[in-house]
Amino acid sequence: MDVRYCKNCKQMFHYQGSPLCPECEKEMEKKFVDVKNYIKENPSAKMGDVAEENDVPMQQIKRWIREERLSFSKDSGVRLSCEKCGAAITTGRFCQNCKNDMAHQFSGIYQPAKAEQAALKSGDSKSKMRFLGKE
Ligand SMILES: [Zn+2]
Ligand SMILES: [Zn+2]
Repeated sequence: MDVRYCKNCKQMFHYQGSPLCPECEKEMEKKFVDVKNYIKENPSAKMGDVAEENDVPMQQIKRWIREERLSFSKDSGVRLSCEKCGAAITTGRFCQNCKNDMAHQFSGIYQPAKAEQAALKSGDSKSKMRFLGKE
């Protein structure tokens, strides 16, 4: 069991992927609605203003952006950059190009496995041996 201290209230809680305890997480979900509305009504607000006006830590706002739940308009002056190539983005961690690249890489990893299965099924004893030898 992974027990951590909540980043917000410092209580111990059972860690399940969020830095906040379930109570604070619930509280943050309520704030999320406020923040989202605030950004909608104040499209030019800076990240610092949003944090201050809604009493939400900047870290939390950045987390929502990384999770692609929040996005800032170009007017806001909030500049996010792709973690891979540095291109300007409005939400998430990567630009669309890098996301596409990554999707390609994933399918690239997938294909040899398919080829392997096909080779096993086709009964080609040479490739069967080779693939079995790998295991
Ligand atoms: Zn807490
Ligand atoms: Zn990129």
